[in-house]
Formats: sequence, structure tokens, C-alpha cells
Amino acid sequence: MRTSRRAKRMRLSIYCDGNLVATRPQGLSENSVERFIIQKANWILSKLEHFKKFKGNFFFRNNKAEYLKHKEEARKFIGNRIEHFNNFYNFQFNRINIRNQKTRWGSCSKKGNLNFNYKVALLPARIADYIIVHELCHLKEFNHSKEFWDLVSRTAPDHRDIRKELRNSRLNLH
Ligand SMILES: [Zn+2]
Repeated sequence: MRTSRRAKRMRLSIYCDGNLVATRPQGLSENSVERFIIQKANWILSKLEHFKKFKGNFFFRNNKAEYLKHKEEARKFIGNRIEHFNNFYNFQFNRINIRNQKTRWGSCSKKGNLNFNYKVALLPARIADYIIVHELCHLKEFNHSKEFWDLVSRTAPDHRDIRKELRNSRLNLH
């Protein structure tokens, strides 16, 4: 559970490892939070079922039907996480594009467009968040300078460990 001063409404995010993160506006009572989560119980259960199906060899399959099936869900999820982290960074960006890329998790263009592989939404929580923070920080620092990594560290302090895990996957981050 996270409390955010800027959040205007309750928000739930579920990750494929079963992690559930709820963000609540400051001042919302425990009772209201509980009611919200109970109302969402069916949605939560169906998501968990859904993720269970994708355990295993999912990440190296490249399938257009899967992409079309998950694209909008991924857009919503990634959009929510960007909103969450950009409450902190406050960067300007142009568009968020969800793509079916073979070799990339994400990229940021000079025009300020953020591009993400739809599979980011199916990664474990801390890895998905790191990829999102990485691309978000390129809006400010279009390089991998010390200044860039300092910015990333402010919301992803364990990025070095996560990068090691990511290196074992076949996809890159740009
Ligand atoms: Zn980068």
C-alpha cells in the first residue's frame, strides 16, 4: 500500500508475480480502502489467473495475437506506473507507445515519445518499474551519464541488481 499526496483516487496495479500495489490518496480512510479492494476482488482474481497462464516460456514467444490481446491492458498498466513515477519527476512527454518488439523492452525518442514492449506489463514488479523509470529519466538526460543514473536512483535505488537480472534476458533497454 502506498499513500500519495497527489493521487486523486484509489489505484490498483497487479504484476505477473502476483504483487498487488494499491495507491491511495492521503486522507482516505482504511474502511474506504478496504471497500475499494473488496469491490475489485473479482478483477484481482481474474488477473491473477490470467498471469498464471503465462508462466514459463512466454517471454521469448513472439506472437501477434498475444500482442493484440495484451496491448491495451499493457497501455493502461504502463500509463498508471508512468503517472505514479512522474508525480515525482514531473517530466514533459509527448506520447506513450506500446509495441511488440523483438529486441527491446523500451526506448525514448528525441521527440519525447516513450516506447514500451507490451511484455513489460507482465514482468515482476520491480523490473517493470525499473524499465519505466529508465525511459522516463531519458526525457531529462538523453544518455547514460552519471546524471542519468543519479536520476534513476531516486526512485529505483536497486537498479544495479535489476540490470544484472535483465542482462540475462534477450531484450535490451535503450
Ligand atoms: Zn537508456
